[in-house]
Amino acid sequence: MRFRYSTAKDGKPVKKAVVYTPEEHGIPLSNVDDDAIRIVERLKASGFDTYIVGGAVRDLILGKKPKDFDIASEASPPRIKRIFRNSRIIGNRFRLVHVYAGNKIFEVSTFRSLKGGNTGNAFGTIEEDVLRRDFTVNSLFYDPQRQLVVDFVGGMKDIGKKRIRSIIPLDTIFTDDPVRMIRAVKYGAATGFKLPFSLRWRIRRDSSLLTQISPSRLTEEIVKIIHSAQAARIVGDLETLGLYSYLQPNASKLARENSGFRERYLRDLAAARDADGGDQQPGRAMSSLIRAFLEDTVDWSLGDSQENYYSAFMGARRFVLPMNPPRLELDHAVRLVFAEHGLTVKRARFPIRSRPLRGEGDRSRPGEAGKQEPGKPPLGAAPLGEAPLGEAPLGAAPLGEATKKRRRRKRRRASVPEGGPGDIGEE
Ligand code: ATP
Ligand code: MG
Repeated sequence: MRFRYSTAKDGKPVKKAVVYTPEEHGIPLSNVDDDAIRIVERLKASGFDTYIVGGAVRDLILGKKPKDFDIASEASPPRIKRIFRNSRIIGNRFRLVHVYAGNKIFEVSTFRSLKGGNTGNAFGTIEEDVLRRDFTVNSLFYDPQRQLVVDFVGGMKDIGKKRIRSIIPLDTIFTDDPVRMIRAVKYGAATGFKLPFSLRWRIRRDSSLLTQISPSRLTEEIVKIIHSAQAARIVGDLETLGLYSYLQPNASKLARENSGFRERYLRDLAAARDADGGDQQPGRAMSSLIRAFLEDTVDWSLGDSQENYYSAFMGARRFVLPMNPPRLELDHAVRLVFAEHGLTVKRARFPIRSRPLRGEGDRSRPGEAGKQEPGKPPLGAAPLGEAPLGEAPLGAAPLGEATKKRRRRKRRRASVPEGGPGDIGEE
C-alpha cells in the first residue's frame, strides 16, 4: 500500500489517497478492455492525467468483467475530441466525449469541481471530482498502465466490508439527485453489499422525489437494470423500499394486487439473460418487463395477424410507461413473446415509430434532465384501464415521403461519428 500526498499551506505533506498495487487490488489486466487501455494511454501520452473510473473499477475489483468502461481525465472535452478522430462531444450542459472504437463507445469525462454543488459542470481536479461521486464503491480510479488503484475515500475498505457508503452528505445526496436512490439499491442488490440503515431510512423518506425525474433518465436506469445479471433481485429490493412504483407504476401496482403476477414477473426478470449469462438475444431483457402483462392481455387465438401484434405492441408500450424504451428493442421483445406461442409476425408495414413522449432525448445527467413538476405522478403513468389494448396508436400517423427522407438523413448523421466508425483514430 502506498500513499499519495499533497502539500498543505504550511508546507507539510498531507495524505490524500491510498494507492493499491496489483497484488493488493487483484485486478487481472486481461479483464480490462484493450481499447479502454489504449484511450487512457493516448491521453496520458498527451500529458493528461487519466483513469478508468466508476463501475468498471468496482466490477474489476470484484472479479467481474465490466460491460462498459468509463474514463475520467484532466483533458477538456474539445481537447479529448482533438486527440481521438472517432469521437464526439455530447451533452449540452454536462459535456463529455464519446470515443468510438469498433462497435464500442467509451464515455470520457473531464474531472469536475464542486463549484455549483455536486451536480454542477465546472471542470476541476481529481480530488474534487471524487467528492461528487455517489458511493465509495464507485469512486476508485484505476491506472491500467501502472496497474494502480487510487482511492481517495476509503472505497477499497468499504468493498472489503461489503457496504455501500455515500460520499455526498446524506442530507443532500438524494435531494440533489433522486436517481441516486435507485442507484444505491441497484449496487446493493448487484454486489450483495449492505445499505446502512441511515441510507435505507433516507430512501424511504425521499422516494417521492423520483416524480421529478424525466422519463429518459428513468428509462436509462431500468434498461441498465434489466440488462444486469441481478435484475430480479434489484427489482425486488426496489419494490421493498418503495421505489419501483416510480420506475414501473403499472407493473408495481399489478404485482402488489396479484401475487401470481408478481411471481411470474420476477421469474421473467431472473431469466432476462441467456443461459450463458449474456443478453445477446435482441429484446430478451426487455421481454422480461412485458411478458407477464402480455400473457394476461393478448388474445392468442387471434394468431399472428399484424393487428394482433400491433395492439400488443401498443399495450406493452403503455404498460412500461413512463419508460420510453427504444422502439426496436420493444419490437423484438413483443415478437419474442409471440414466438413463444409459435406465432411469427411479419415485419410491420405500419410505422410503429410514434412521436417521442415528452422528455425523450434529453441528456441524462443530474441537474440537466427534463423535470416534471414535483408531486405530480410520473409522466404517462396513466392507470392501465385508461389505455385499453388496441386503442388508437400514440401519434402513429403515416409519414410523408419528405419527412421520411429527412428522418433517414438525420438518423444516418446521428449514428456515424465524424471520421466514421472504426478504430480509435490518431490526432
Ligand atoms: P453501471 O454502469 O454498472 O450502472 P456505474 O457505476 O458505471 O454503474 P454510471 O452511470 O456508468 O454507473 O456512472 C459512472 C460513474 O459516474 C459512477 O460510478 C459514479 O462514480 C458516477 N456517477 C454516475 N451517476 C452519478 C450520480 N447520479 N451521482 C453521483 N455520481 C454519479
Ligand atoms: Mg458505467
